[in-house]
Amino acid sequence: MASQPVEAPSHPTLRPAAVFGFALVHVAALGVFLAGFSWKGVLLCVASYYVRMFAITAGFHRYFAHRTYKLGRIPQFLLAFLGQTAAQKGVLWWASLHRHHHRYSDQPEDIHSPIQRGFWWSHMGWILAKDYEETDLSRVQDLAKFRELVWLDRNQFLATFVYALGFYFAFGATGLFWGYFLSTVLLWHGTFTINSVMHVFGRRIWKTPDQSRNSFIFALVTMGEGWHNNHHHYPGSASQGFLWWEFDATYYLLWLGEKIGFVKGLRRVPENIREMARFLNSRKARISAAVSNAFESASGLMNNRMDAMNERIEKLTQEWAGMQASLKQAVIQKRSDLELSYERAALRLQELQADYQAAMTRAGEAAGKRIDEITAEMERTRLQLLESLEALVAAAHSLAEPSPA
Ligand SMILES: [Zn+2]
Ligand SMILES: [Zn+2]
Repeated sequence: MASQPVEAPSHPTLRPAAVFGFALVHVAALGVFLAGFSWKGVLLCVASYYVRMFAITAGFHRYFAHRTYKLGRIPQFLLAFLGQTAAQKGVLWWASLHRHHHRYSDQPEDIHSPIQRGFWWSHMGWILAKDYEETDLSRVQDLAKFRELVWLDRNQFLATFVYALGFYFAFGATGLFWGYFLSTVLLWHGTFTINSVMHVFGRRIWKTPDQSRNSFIFALVTMGEGWHNNHHHYPGSASQGFLWWEFDATYYLLWLGEKIGFVKGLRRVPENIREMARFLNSRKARISAAVSNAFESASGLMNNRMDAMNERIEKLTQEWAGMQASLKQAVIQKRSDLELSYERAALRLQELQADYQAAMTRAGEAAGKRIDEITAEMERTRLQLLESLEALVAAAHSLAEPSPA
């Protein structure tokens, strides 16, 4: 037998055979159209629904899963047998996984939490999953010591088969389709609402760590299981309705069973919890709860806003830091660029100065040479003038003196 705790795998797979069987019973329920409408059929359907609902809530749930009262070995077996006519698998399988649900309610480990894995999964997906097919006896050792219960659990569809046949032989097609198939489908979904709807819809009186809720309407549908928030707050009680107006048909019948003598040691809600329930359901507490809820949701909203704002600020700060860094980088780059171009300009200036010097020197040299040339030219011209003047003077003298002849 598997004995490790059921861990919720992230992607459980469905069993094709289970899905097929589940769908087939739904289709068979449409057989009521073949059988035709009759008040007898409706009566059989409703009676078969509530008798088996009682076996599920008083038996599978409050007796086998939670041990909230004591039964003799034979009534215990009969109750388990009647529970298995509901076709919700074996009694030990049911009790074992329900104990697991209470241990991890709405935590990631919870295998049928609508909070964790969505409404439809919590309603019926998990029942058809391959992963939870086996009965983990380690959580129901107190029950597994009864060999007849282990046998019944292993032959999980025997009881429901016998039950269906019984309806057919006693009431014909009306019995089979109204009393068995339609009733079974309604019973399935009626029971499954406890796992799905009752963790989503309704009023929360007790601040349990899970999301369980209370609902009068579902308490009618499920014979008292609609007080699911009460139940998660105090699962040790055989009653789930804690106050007189919290209708709990299963508990009334168990109470009757105690009076008759079948039921022993019926565990009740302690008076202090009942007192607290009275207070929490009072007008004053309801109003203050509504106010505190409103306050909580308003502060939740504000916190969300604040979170969003803080996120925005952080993002902007990061952006700003990034901008600053890139700006700084750009400045550094620009400065080094400028420095480089300044150096280049200075170098160029030096070159130009050198060129200028050279040019000046060359110009000076050229000018000196030209002056020398001009000076030499002037000298030559002066000498020529002098020569001409001397020749003129000599000519003048020769004209002035008498000729010797
Ligand atoms: Zn629950
Ligand atoms: Zn429970």
